[in-house]
Amino acid sequence: MADFDLIILGAGPAGLTAGIYAARGGLSVLTIESKAPGGQTAQTSTVENFPGVPNANGFDLAYTMLNQAKSFGVKVKTGQIDGITLDGEEKSVKLSNGKEFSSRAIIIATGASPRLLGLDNERELTGAGISYCATCDGMFFKGKTVAVVGGGNTAVEDALYLEKLAGKVYLIHRRDALRADKILADRIKSSGVEILWDSVVEKAFGGDKLAEIEVKNVKNGSLSRVLVDGLFVAVGQIPNTSFLQNADIKVDLTEGGYVVCDKEMQTNVRGVFVCGDVRETPLRQIVTACADGAIAANSAIKYLQ
Ligand code: NAP
Repeated sequence: MADFDLIILGAGPAGLTAGIYAARGGLSVLTIESKAPGGQTAQTSTVENFPGVPNANGFDLAYTMLNQAKSFGVKVKTGQIDGITLDGEEKSVKLSNGKEFSSRAIIIATGASPRLLGLDNERELTGAGISYCATCDGMFFKGKTVAVVGGGNTAVEDALYLEKLAGKVYLIHRRDALRADKILADRIKSSGVEILWDSVVEKAFGGDKLAEIEVKNVKNGSLSRVLVDGLFVAVGQIPNTSFLQNADIKVDLTEGGYVVCDKEMQTNVRGVFVCGDVRETPLRQIVTACADGAIAANSAIKYLQ
């Protein structure tokens, strides 16, 4: 007999909502998270577009979801997935600490991780000036000069957040138009953030700590040096699906690595569902992750019946 009715991989908004719906639907649920619960939401300063909770603090919102899931009996464990068996009636997940759990259904809600810029010394300088989380690391740059790379919602929100802490903030974007929502784009244009349009970061300089970056204007090819204490990279995400590579059966992925599913969140493998940022979807928001989670849980309940 399986240990649980359902194992949910990932405890971000999608996975936690799936947990809430599945547990309330009578399933025994284990959620496995490789990092801290809450996913990227827990690292977001202010969430303005989650209906009913205006100006929510991302960490508080995520932890409220976590506690809500736990209150319905969802078990949450931390661990790295080391192996996964998805074919057949009973599925199993093996963790790197050797523990193994089985279930009759699986929901993949592993989200996505920040994409790297690809600088030569990016890894060496991560934590020494280069960061992928303004909310986590912004405090280290009080009164200092920082640059944010990217033109999406994350980059613009990060730049606006950092403006409140840092002495000077640059936003470096590779095009001449922002991808971010209009409300955010308008806000940053009237803020004190200096936008370097049509620009990319080519190099980062510094011994044990970032000191300077080389910025290239992609339209005219000119290079300039900018003194910065911090570089916040917000150039999109990569879906967390690498653990599926060694699964006993192939889960269909898009070219970009996102999990393919139907409108019921059913993947090509029976009893395996997906929700949130890790799936192929036109919109990756907290609200859509939660909606996905509810649908995936409902589909898992129907499948198990
Ligand atoms: P995103 O929307 O994919 O934006 C990534 C940005 O980085 C784009 O502007 C892109 O430029 C740029 N970029 C990509 N690769 C690059 C590279 N190698 N070098 C330089 N620039 C590069 O990612 P995101 O901002 O992290 O947002 C992800 C999802 O979460 C989106 O659906 C977003 O709407 C959502 N989100 C929503 C909120 C909110 O509503 N409050 C907040 C945060 C995130 P191009 O524009 O030229 O492609």
